[in-house]
Amino acid sequence: MALGGWRSEAYAALDQRIGLVVGAQDKAFNAMGIHTVGDLMHHVPRRYVVGTELSDLSDLQVGTHVAVLARVAEVRPHPGPPGKKGRGRLEVQLTDGRHQLPATFFGANHLLEWWQRSLTPGARGIFSAKVGEFRGQPQLGHPDYVIVDEQGFFVAGSDRNRSMASVFRGGPIGIYPASAKLPTWDIAEAAGLTLHALGDLPDPWPAWVLAATDLPPLVEALRAVHRPTELSEVASGLERLAFDEALEVQLTMAYRRADHTRLAAEPRRAAADGLLSAFDARLPFELTRGQLQVSREIEADLAGRVAMQRLLQGEVGSGKTVVALRAMLAVVDTGGQAALLAPTEVLAAQHFHSITTMLGDLAAGGMLGGTRVVLLTGSMTAAQKKKSLLAIASGEAGIVVGTHALLSETVQFADLGLVVVDEQHRFGVEQRNALTAKADLHPHVLVMTATPIPRSVALTIYGDLEVSTLREVPAGRSDVTTTVVDVQAHPRWVERAWERAREEVASGRQVFVVCPRISPEGEAYDPLNGWSLEEVADRLRSTPLGEVRVGVLHGQLPTEEKDRVMAGFAAGELDVLVATTVIEVGVDVPNASMMVVCDAGRFGISQLHQLRGRIGRGRFPGLCLLLAAARDEGGLERLEGLAATRDGFALADLDLQQRREGNVLGTVQAGSHTGMRLLNVTRDADLIGLARDIAERAVRDDPDAATPGFHDAIRRMALVSLDE
Ligand code: ADP
Ligand code: MG
Repeated sequence: MALGGWRSEAYAALDQRIGLVVGAQDKAFNAMGIHTVGDLMHHVPRRYVVGTELSDLSDLQVGTHVAVLARVAEVRPHPGPPGKKGRGRLEVQLTDGRHQLPATFFGANHLLEWWQRSLTPGARGIFSAKVGEFRGQPQLGHPDYVIVDEQGFFVAGSDRNRSMASVFRGGPIGIYPASAKLPTWDIAEAAGLTLHALGDLPDPWPAWVLAATDLPPLVEALRAVHRPTELSEVASGLERLAFDEALEVQLTMAYRRADHTRLAAEPRRAAADGLLSAFDARLPFELTRGQLQVSREIEADLAGRVAMQRLLQGEVGSGKTVVALRAMLAVVDTGGQAALLAPTEVLAAQHFHSITTMLGDLAAGGMLGGTRVVLLTGSMTAAQKKKSLLAIASGEAGIVVGTHALLSETVQFADLGLVVVDEQHRFGVEQRNALTAKADLHPHVLVMTATPIPRSVALTIYGDLEVSTLREVPAGRSDVTTTVVDVQAHPRWVERAWERAREEVASGRQVFVVCPRISPEGEAYDPLNGWSLEEVADRLRSTPLGEVRVGVLHGQLPTEEKDRVMAGFAAGELDVLVATTVIEVGVDVPNASMMVVCDAGRFGISQLHQLRGRIGRGRFPGLCLLLAAARDEGGLERLEGLAATRDGFALADLDLQQRREGNVLGTVQAGSHTGMRLLNVTRDADLIGLARDIAERAVRDDPDAATPGFHDAIRRMALVSLDE
């Protein structure tokens, strides 16, 4: 395959469109997310079958596409009327030795005869189809099949025009994740052709990289995964492919970090008797040790000539906002401005509110050495926006809080010194950059996230940032008890939960009720059992909560309505807030002491942890009830895991372990479009660490990424956004 410019030969080959190998079948491949030769090479068998092994036929899920290895037990032909037009069917019983699975073939009589020749009792093959149902039993409707002998050699197939001899040529048989349009052997065949075309492609990495690992060269790894002669080769082949994914990310991050050190910024050092010290002097509490430590790290960064690129992660309620505000004040002290970018209007408004509250008369602006704080969001009126824009452009506003609206081109800062991004995973690098481009020199950047992430994930996703962590939660926080309520086993406990909520309200506290969605699923409005916000809000009227003041909050309400409801709840004018996850982050109502999560199994662990952080923020012990039915396998167990600990980092690990393959980064970020097909951030933490070390050495040895493989890896990563 051709080599282009200063590209590495390996990437030039792997980045070619899949159509080159599979021709018109490329659409079926694209539908599976396979666009390039490299995608195909990283689309690896789900499992391998060897010798006379058979699939377990008792374990098939109706509606899924399967490829099962089974033996023909019995064949009953039902030919159609004689002649050319006659169509009939062939009923076949497949077996794994213990369970039976019926399969039916439909076609003209001559086809039935052709199939009957290979589907003889005792024949063994791979049958590929969507699992259907007949009289309550799973069955295969018109499967594609390939019959193989005991050594794994091709005997015959359902399509008489195709030989699969090149795919089934003895040895372990890889069973690929496949679709109805694209059976496993078509993928295997394409992989075989590709391996042939790649020939002895040189490795993308220089020799020293491979020497630093125990991994096989690329072509050897590809062959071991797609065409193993022995099962024992597969593992190290897979590891090599996962390593390549890890190294691509780590090279990208390492070169980005190196780039950052070239981003000149203006040093910002707070004045000894400025705004920051005035703020510190009136703080009603002591900063925790962690807050002090992180603040020192940030102050050191701000005082440097290189733009800060720091991630501040910490438990919900660990006091990140105070730390960020102190950084902003330090910048204002030097005559600069700070912008706080929030992911939603509700959060922007909350930040604005809590910052002005914390600052008190220091937010008056102008006099007393204070500074003005302004808000800028998309839903503000033109007149309001204009006022804010003027204050931002003139430099009068030292602190600017806003949403995406801040990124618009009409926003001009007088002297933007610091950008604080709340909840980074909702913004992309491009957006961060759009804001940082608004300064002459590069502004300092502080990214805050309340989603605790394990180190391996941090290295993968936030690898371009330095990381500060707040582990302790400020003293004075109250305990939160979490209880899982199995509403299927104990339907009456639901009523008891509402009763308990009413008691809470009676003693002056407030209650959140969280629902997984706004409207009922499909048509079925079910006021008795449905868990949508609409159903639950209706139902509460006939419960002990019917007498209290209930507000409703969700993302589809108009902004003013949302703000009104949220402000009403914060002011204690509402007792109960029935809401979707819009309350997930940032909401601070210390008087709220109880939360009922409806249909809790629908939420991720980290998400529930975030939600739960909304209570127990004041003097009152919190109670979190997770209403759940054991409908998904392991569902209740998962929730019990959450109930057992409030350590966000432990939960983040738990969450990762429980996500299915292919969705490893899940809500944290990323997905298949990151190009990470094989890398598993939990399982491959060591591999990621190794890749990180190698990437750092690469930056030292080759600061300009002149090594073609490095250059290509970074270029490829730039095409798949890590942040979406
Ligand atoms: P986060 O942004 O990490 O969720 P916040 O900064 O919003 O946390 O802090 C949550 C609450 O705790 C706020 O009401 C804040 O005033 C308070 N708080 C912050 N730091 C401390 C501290 N060191 N001691 C006591 N209370 C604190
Ligand atoms: Mg906060």
